[in-house]
Amino acid sequence: MKYIDAHLHINYGGFRKEQIDNYLKDPELEFCLLHTWQELRPSIPSLYQPLPLEDILDIKSQYPDRLVPFFAPDPTDPNWQQLMESALARGVKGCGELKVNLKWSDHALDDYLDFLNKKGLPLLIHMELPRRQFFIEKRSTWDKVLDKWFNNYKNGATRYYTERLIHSTVVLEPWLDSHLVDFAGYLYDFEGLEQRVKEFPNIKFIGHGPHFWNNLGAQLSPKHTYQQGTYHTFGLIDKLLSTYSNFFCDISGYSGWIALNRNHTQTKIFLSRHADKVFYGTDNVFLGQREFIKSLSLGSEIESKIFYKNIVSLIF
Ligand SMILES: [Zn+2]
Repeated sequence: MKYIDAHLHINYGGFRKEQIDNYLKDPELEFCLLHTWQELRPSIPSLYQPLPLEDILDIKSQYPDRLVPFFAPDPTDPNWQQLMESALARGVKGCGELKVNLKWSDHALDDYLDFLNKKGLPLLIHMELPRRQFFIEKRSTWDKVLDKWFNNYKNGATRYYTERLIHSTVVLEPWLDSHLVDFAGYLYDFEGLEQRVKEFPNIKFIGHGPHFWNNLGAQLSPKHTYQQGTYHTFGLIDKLLSTYSNFFCDISGYSGWIALNRNHTQTKIFLSRHADKVFYGTDNVFLGQREFIKSLSLGSEIESKIFYKNIVSLIF
């Protein structure tokens, strides 16, 4: 069955021009959406990697029919409108990936969203909660171990338990505090998002990212970076997809993968219920998502919507 990758980047996660050349050799892959990342003031510069539009347009010139460029200038860039207009004139089809340390209620987004609304453009968003990130100069192997231990090792569980232990003994607290830096999060307020979805009905919002997918289930545990384990009640994203015709999502990244693997029965219900609203995508993370979707036996009609029909009707 043919498919479209709705969420891809060039020069990200070791995925360079050669890897895209190879990826596009798959005759079933119709085309890919390539997204930028632009943040003028990242809260932790080492977590940010600029993904400029020029790199996308460069490779697109080689594959004019196989690559669809998206572009999301930082909304706090005084020139965002000029940049967006020139990007649209150069064949950009939507705004993405918007991954900036703003909340949805921020006024910096007012004119930006109004512009996208008037143009009726899709908008791919990345949602991630603020946190205190463990930061250490990685001079030795031990530093590297600590960095892993206090960030994402065991899906955040090692950090959760060690921090609790440190806070209860007090002795190591000053040491830990000296290594924690504030990460501001990305577009994480769901209430603000819902207001914007209502306010701008012509924008096709596409949800994605850890905080987005963590809300597949209604309960959240502070123990894990990515929520894991089974759940009984659907959470906020089910509500947004059910309520708003201009709200969509992509399954890409570890966040989508982990969430959809929490409970396959629930995943089947979720994907069937929102069959017109879900896009296949990878975010340069190749975990066998295609085989996984097929293994759920959703039926060819739903599969074809998720794999390509939904994206085609979104863009064209
Ligand atoms: Zn991405």
